[in-house]
Amino acid sequence: MSAKIARYLAEQQPETPCVVIDLDVITDNYKTMKRLLPLAQIFYAVKANPAPEIVNVLNEQGSSFDTASRGEIDLCLGLGAQPEKISFGNTIKKERDIAYAYAKGVRLFAFDSEAELQKLAKAAPGAKVYCRILMECSGAEWPLSRKFGCAPEMATDLLVKARELGLDAYGISFHVGSQQTDLDQWDVAVGRAAAMFSALQKANIDLRMVNIGGGFPARYRAAVRPVEDYAEAVMSAMQKHFGNNIPEIIIEPGRSMVGDAGVLQAEVVLISEKDYEEDKRWIYLDVGKFGGLAETMDEAIKYKLVTPHDGGATGPVILAGPTCDSADILYEKTDYQMPINLAVGDKIEIHSTGAYTTSYSSVNFNGFPPLRTICI
Ligand SMILES: *Cc1c(COP(=O)(O)O)cnc(C)c1O
Repeated sequence: MSAKIARYLAEQQPETPCVVIDLDVITDNYKTMKRLLPLAQIFYAVKANPAPEIVNVLNEQGSSFDTASRGEIDLCLGLGAQPEKISFGNTIKKERDIAYAYAKGVRLFAFDSEAELQKLAKAAPGAKVYCRILMECSGAEWPLSRKFGCAPEMATDLLVKARELGLDAYGISFHVGSQQTDLDQWDVAVGRAAAMFSALQKANIDLRMVNIGGGFPARYRAAVRPVEDYAEAVMSAMQKHFGNNIPEIIIEPGRSMVGDAGVLQAEVVLISEKDYEEDKRWIYLDVGKFGGLAETMDEAIKYKLVTPHDGGATGPVILAGPTCDSADILYEKTDYQMPINLAVGDKIEIHSTGAYTTSYSSVNFNGFPPLRTICI
């Protein structure tokens, strides 16, 4: 946690639950990525955290934006982002939303199917389009497999089709899965992309761009490799497969850009036991799956929790949220230990919660307000 956030929490004692975001950390993360991948154009994946203050800071730094909806496009444009710096990266779009983006000046679009290509040809004539290929996403803690992308052979045919339809067949994208822990996945993906570049050259189509998606991690409970190792893996894959003809590179970081910039402050509402035979305590917090911690689904993302009693004796716990839904359990199978001294009313800090929390929070389930963001 940054010193700035620690000071804010100590001095302001904000009403919980809330996520406090240190905008300086985001600026640093952007600059680091720029320095490590000077050949890549950075498109921040807005869905990770759409707080206007974050979009603003990144826009000032010169970032581009990966958007998924009319709402995200309007957000970026409204804060002064140039339409040339916006990609409509969702492969599932309404034709009228494509037309809307096009009318606003957006010229870069993703697709992964013939039907989507037909919509693009009608609503975004001449635009640059890139095809997303399927990835297995093994090694990713939050996979983005199956639903997105198509097989490389199909993608190759679709890019030929794109040109026939008057679109600019611009490149290939993939996402190796979010919170990816296996650096070799970029080598697999870039290898597939390079093979498609060669195949399409035979059809006289010169692709110009590879979009390597997201997947760089945030630090949760377990250690992760430093961002330097990820950048190195990406660039050596590009050199290995493209040699001296490295195309334009787009990267779409979400989690790694904003994850570690945020701390969620929560409060212990109840501590209980359910059976005299059972030694596991149930710890109920004022935030749960519906309050923003949706990535605890299947206990996928394992957050680091900090309490005021750390360092003393601990015991096993089941962690749950405050709502009247039994799905609102955060960790039951994963081994979480909390201090024996933990008491109702104690503040809990949940680290690296700048990404995929506030925007996942429900509107008003059980009357709990959406998770608040405080940018400092
Ligand atoms: C969600 C998403 C990202 C961001 O992925 P992270 O793993 O959070 O960096 C990037 N690109 C696309 C198309 C996405 O859907």
